[in-house]
Amino acid sequence: MRIELLPALSDNYMYLLIDVDSREAAVVDPVEPIKVSVGNTCASSTHARCPTTALNTHISLDHAGGNEKMLKLMPGLKVYGGDDRVDAITKKVSHSNTFKVGSLHVKCLSTPCHTTGHICYYVTKENSTEPPAVFTGDTLFVAGCGKFFEGTAEQMHKALIEILGRLPPETHVYCGHEYTVNNLKFARHVEPHNEVIQKKLAWAKEKCSNGEPTIPSTLADEFTFNPFMRVKEPSVQEHVKQTDPIETMRSLRKEKDNFRVPKE
Ligand SMILES: [Zn+2]
Repeated sequence: MRIELLPALSDNYMYLLIDVDSREAAVVDPVEPIKVSVGNTCASSTHARCPTTALNTHISLDHAGGNEKMLKLMPGLKVYGGDDRVDAITKKVSHSNTFKVGSLHVKCLSTPCHTTGHICYYVTKENSTEPPAVFTGDTLFVAGCGKFFEGTAEQMHKALIEILGRLPPETHVYCGHEYTVNNLKFARHVEPHNEVIQKKLAWAKEKCSNGEPTIPSTLADEFTFNPFMRVKEPSVQEHVKQTDPIETMRSLRKEKDNFRVPKE
């Protein structure tokens, strides 16, 4: 599989997921349809870049706001999503539903919390050694997680630890926003002695100052620097003065919602 990052709006990412074998492609959260279609001469392209499928992670204008226009530009497009409130869905999905994009296998993972109908898409290629990929929308970010707009700490704990956290550790994580530097500044505040966080922050700052993305990470990496994935760690629990992973999740989110990111 090939995955292309398409930056959108101020800090969103759309993604093009391409099955190199069949040349079929899907687009994730196509909020700016023109950017997806520009330059896509579907028939003649070496990599088919004209998507047959759109994958919506969740209801939010900065993710799902382009569906109607996408459908006009690409009639016949299959539009997947897990929330009836998302415009122009042609295929409603729920937890564990599977479908194919060419030879790629896509599994839907329901991760309600940021919004109730949030879906992450887990992509594997059969008989291949390539690492799987997961598109996590606004559930899991590099070094962070989405706000609990329509859900609870229990739900985010389930999403991050029991659902995403149990995917193969080598799975590549493609999230909905470029929030990495600010997330790592909060992570450093939570665990000032965690050297992995310091290193990752220096790396992410460098990337951003060169105008490069910090995406993807891997699930294995997230467990080393993402406080919301580290709610079982004594160092994280001590910071919020909790001993239970779910209460740690709740306290961390509350603290992050009010965290003033230091300018440096
Ligand atoms: Zn968003």
